[in-house]
Amino acid sequence: MITKKTKRLQAADKAHLWHPFTQMKEWTAQSPESQLIIERGKGNYLYDTEGRRYLDGVSSLWTTVHGHGNKTIDRAIKDQIDRISHTTLLGLGSVPSIELAEKLVEITPRGLKKVFYSDSGSTAVEIALKIAYQYWIETGVKGRTRFISFTGAYHGDTLGSMSVGEIGSFVKKYNPLIKKHFRAPYPYCYRCPVASDVGHPGCKLACLNEFERIVEKNHKDIAACIIEPMVQGAAGMIVSPPGFLKGVRRIAKKYNILLIADEVAVGFGRTGKLFACEDESVSPDILCLAKGITGGYLPLAATLTTDKIYKAFLGNYEELKAFFHGHTYTGNPLGAAAAIANIDLFKKNKVIDKLQQKVKTLKALLKPLSKLDHVGDIRQKGLMVGIELVACKESKAPYPASLRLGHNICMDARKKGLIIRPLGDVIVLMPPLSITERELKKMVSVVEDSIRDRTE
Ligand SMILES: *Cc1c(COP(=O)(O)O)cnc(C)c1O
Repeated sequence: MITKKTKRLQAADKAHLWHPFTQMKEWTAQSPESQLIIERGKGNYLYDTEGRRYLDGVSSLWTTVHGHGNKTIDRAIKDQIDRISHTTLLGLGSVPSIELAEKLVEITPRGLKKVFYSDSGSTAVEIALKIAYQYWIETGVKGRTRFISFTGAYHGDTLGSMSVGEIGSFVKKYNPLIKKHFRAPYPYCYRCPVASDVGHPGCKLACLNEFERIVEKNHKDIAACIIEPMVQGAAGMIVSPPGFLKGVRRIAKKYNILLIADEVAVGFGRTGKLFACEDESVSPDILCLAKGITGGYLPLAATLTTDKIYKAFLGNYEELKAFFHGHTYTGNPLGAAAAIANIDLFKKNKVIDKLQQKVKTLKALLKPLSKLDHVGDIRQKGLMVGIELVACKESKAPYPASLRLGHNICMDARKKGLIIRPLGDVIVLMPPLSITERELKKMVSVVEDSIRDRTE
């Protein structure tokens, strides 16, 4: 029996709330049993208004790092509330925003020295694109009005960030509103767009040649390349083969275009390193951070760049070289305080060291799933996992979208106490870094059962 309180909230939700990336016709038609309303969280678990407990298998949409209700982060936010909750960075400084900038410069890849704040991944990307574009103007280079990104990329849902993204169903409709940019093939090795007859590593990263061909031909028009380093998230957790990121860095440098690393999803330990760029010792010219930056507690984002780029914006006021951008809540002190606590916890709890064993355990747990009849590909980097389901393993033919297979499997998993959210027919796992080995086992076993139930 569902309580009165839950029923009331469910009705009010259906009456007034418009959910993100959601077909509301389907949403409002769902049964009271499947319409979960989360009331609180503790550690790696979420609790709904019925008091039922669920393992948070996708870190509340890729944000939670050290679990929910972490005492250190909660304390940092409460202490900051006692001082001040918001003050502006327009014409004023604020204590936590300064201290966080210092820390971000210290922990991110070499060469990044300046921090520009905003409040979401999309705005962090908008800022990166605008900085890259304006950098060339201020240095007297004309015509660099375009960007190069990769097939399947997701960089956010505002008009600018969408223009460098390419997830057909998300973006297509808005094409008339957005500028066209260059697109290079991303190494989706399971369905290789370039050298499918050879495959990796026989292809010797043929995709890089294709990237270089486009850059060589058009570099005078290109301000920057933007990439999700090591793992394309929203495309379906697609892990790039070794050497690809490094190759992109090398080619960007060779043709003198800037490199923007969008670590909104992969940053803060998700891939097993603090930042994904570390995996191939890459230092981007611009770095975008959001999602995990506050440990998943408050909306905050940061765009970092080098002294070289920053200096191009310096001049006398009337030269109008300043970066005319900023959001009302830029550098919000509560978000900054949470982010400082999040970063301190990495060090204090040796999170990255301890993560390595969990990554190995998860890998071992996932291995048997590849034998299932309809599991086409299992991709893992750190604690990011994509399990791609196919109707036929041999031809790699997908299931018809109308089956809503990924969705249905995730709904089944809820009944077994696990909250996950798919990307089409890719089952995504991205638990908090604080997940225990026991919880990893539970998570994978629920996923296996749920896949079997729907595909056998
Ligand atoms: C989620 C995401 C974004 C957008 O972040 P929002 O906070 O949702 O605006 C941008 N880039 C990547 C790689 C992401 O995963």
